[in-house]
Amino acid sequence: MKIGMKPANAFANAPLERRGELRKSRNDLSALLTKPDTRFLLVAAERNVIDAASGKPILVDPEELAALSDGLTHSIMLGEYQGSALFVADLDNASDELLASTLGARTENLRTLGLRLSPEQASLAAYARAMVLWDRRHRYCGRCGGATASDEAGHVRRCINADCGNAMFPRVDPAIIVLVSDGERALLGRQASWDPNRYSTLAGFVEPGESLEEAVAREVREESAIEVEMVDYHSSQPWPFPSSLMLGFVARARTTSIQLLDGELEHADWFSRNDIASRRIHLPFPVSISYRLIEDWYDGGEPGRMRADLDHSDAQTLKHDRDQTG
Ligand SMILES: [Zn+2]
Repeated sequence: MKIGMKPANAFANAPLERRGELRKSRNDLSALLTKPDTRFLLVAAERNVIDAASGKPILVDPEELAALSDGLTHSIMLGEYQGSALFVADLDNASDELLASTLGARTENLRTLGLRLSPEQASLAAYARAMVLWDRRHRYCGRCGGATASDEAGHVRRCINADCGNAMFPRVDPAIIVLVSDGERALLGRQASWDPNRYSTLAGFVEPGESLEEAVAREVREESAIEVEMVDYHSSQPWPFPSSLMLGFVARARTTSIQLLDGELEHADWFSRNDIASRRIHLPFPVSISYRLIEDWYDGGEPGRMRADLDHSDAQTLKHDRDQTG
């Protein structure tokens, strides 16, 4: 499913129906958990479980899951996938040795897995892991400190203290990310911990009591002292490390003199299309919304322009290397 004309960003658009209406029916759910065509994605030690041979997320049936876990796992319903119910099972801290001997499987970090998988598989893996991480981190009530229990197919954790009954829901943390341009140049910055020379668009979490537009203006001001106007929404991307939702914007700079006010960035500067085409800087990973924002700005209404220029630059570099080596 495409929303509007823009293709979806990575980690969105999981190819399933969430079927939220099924979550409240305990009878339906217990029947689904043992139905032979039901499938389970697996997460162990907060990592996705993948088939060791194919490198893709592994799907097991209820019997295989029971054999693996003695019925001790905790499953969360993800929805309906290819006509069958799909859950994620949290295998707790099941070791790679156990996974290898029982399933021919191993675990992998979503950060590397997400770059390798198809967009559909990556979004399913991200959704599954995000639910398990949220579930694991909400075992105790934030109001009274009592234990919580899983409810509504794993989409609610409810305090078991009868005097409290606090319900907690899977959370996402909104963060803005913005391509600021002065017309001809884009404002990009880098954090000290990143790979050398990698630059990205500016970003930051939305704070309580502010609109998205205010968050854009504040983050850009704090990180670069640049004042912006004409803030427009671009697109969004789940960024499940662990639970951000990146809300992408483009904005026009009213000022151009940069100062790193809050120390978040090690360096920020204005970069032209030529700086990018000549690979003077490294861009963010292509699956990120940051890359998408830079690409759309660069293309300026001519889709494919940045990719063509970068390919041309690669060809030139190759030719140069060949000439050098004879
Ligand atoms: Zn409570």
